[in-house]
Amino acid sequence: MEKYVMLAGQLGLEGIGDDPEWHSPTPMAEKDIIRSHSSSYYTSLLNGSWTREEERRSGFTWSPELIRRESIIMQGTWSCAQAASQGDIGLNIAGGTHHAFANRAEGFCLLNDLALSADLLLYNGMARRVLIVDLDVHQGNGTAAMTRGDDRIFTFSMHGASNYPFRKETSTLDVPLPNGTEDPLYLALLQDHMDNILDDFKPNVVLYQCGVDVLASDKLGKLSLTLEGCLERDRIVLESCRKRDIGVACAMGGGYSKDVSVIVEAHMQTFRLARELWS
Ligand SMILES: [Zn+2]
Repeated sequence: MEKYVMLAGQLGLEGIGDDPEWHSPTPMAEKDIIRSHSSSYYTSLLNGSWTREEERRSGFTWSPELIRRESIIMQGTWSCAQAASQGDIGLNIAGGTHHAFANRAEGFCLLNDLALSADLLLYNGMARRVLIVDLDVHQGNGTAAMTRGDDRIFTFSMHGASNYPFRKETSTLDVPLPNGTEDPLYLALLQDHMDNILDDFKPNVVLYQCGVDVLASDKLGKLSLTLEGCLERDRIVLESCRKRDIGVACAMGGGYSKDVSVIVEAHMQTFRLARELWS
């Protein structure tokens, strides 16, 4: 979790952490969480009544602090989504917990901030259509499963074809990529799909899982994007939305480069670009 501390520090150094728009969320209300997650599952999270298999699958050792932290992350993305519903941009310095399902944890994700925020936007009348763009190298399996059947939510996942999760769910649009995919192919595909989806689906709000495990330096990613390519990726998503007056909520997602400063720089690129485009 070193990257989160370093990211917060760097945001402060660059004057973003001092911004009057900087918020420190409180835990999300239970009534909001159990709109999308099963209440029995949420109770098991609060009580720590996991089987060993459930705990292993989560990737975490259970503690009350862990559950509290996760529900704060949920509220963080939901706050960003509310800003996005006003045409603004909001960035959570954590989140992007796209492997969590309605009734189970998986892959270091306990609750799903993207599915929760999409549902709350629709339920509260803040959006009629929500697009979830998931560019983390791992497929957004939990998000796809939790939002399936709701045609007001479009899930778009571009991910490593041979990477975790090995049993993929079906998103509205999945774009699986071969190992070693480099900037030119990645960026061309992304621009094409973003333009088509935004023009056809016409979302009011975009939720963007901007994981940086697509970098060639990533230990788990298997793709080969450069740092410059990663910035271009963000630019395609954010500029495409900005020029159509669509607000965006970003959740950071994964990043496992050996050198933590590379991960922080990749995430900082997203923040700097957001500030440039929405200033
Ligand atoms: Zn990932």
